[in-house]
Amino acid sequence: MQGKISVLISEEKIAARVKELGAQISADYQGKELIMVCVLRGSFLFFADLVRAIKVPQKIEFISCSSYGDAKSSSGEVKLGLDISTPLDGKHVIIVEDIVDTGLTLQYIRDLLAVRHPASLDCCALLEKPEARKVPVKVEYSGFKIGNEFVVGYGLDYAHYFRELPYIGAVVD
Ligand code: 5GP
Repeated sequence: MQGKISVLISEEKIAARVKELGAQISADYQGKELIMVCVLRGSFLFFADLVRAIKVPQKIEFISCSSYGDAKSSSGEVKLGLDISTPLDGKHVIIVEDIVDTGLTLQYIRDLLAVRHPASLDCCALLEKPEARKVPVKVEYSGFKIGNEFVVGYGLDYAHYFRELPYIGAVVD
């Protein structure tokens, strides 16, 4: 895969923000236990760093959904791949997303998990694109707000490439 990447959010800025999010979540959930749900695949690096920044007992789960193929724009249709394997009844659950764009994926996951009667259901997203939002879905913990550009790195891909980059960048054509 060819392409130049321009850095939008540096490794240092990401690390500092993840620490802040972890501290905020730890304070909000003090004395409670969490089930952290990693939305594969884009949030795997963010998730790994975030769970280590959270200082309350946690269990981790994985879910996968797709709305993007190899293209840079959403198909609008959300499909469930992998579902979580534990009951959520009475549990405190945080969905961990890489990026909330139209909001359709997050809304789909929230609806899917809400009917399983968790005690609470929040979302922590590394990135949000407020201008692209099509549905008014809640993001309780938000890392960075960005414009309508397509970003890669720190877990996010373009046609399956660039996930390993330690920073968030934009593909320069
Ligand atoms: P939504 O359903 O909110 O439109 O899209 C959510 C999913 O689309 C994200 O979890 C992510 O996989 C993908 N996505 C949205 N915007 C971007 C982007 O700028 N870069 C990458 N790599 N994926 C994106």
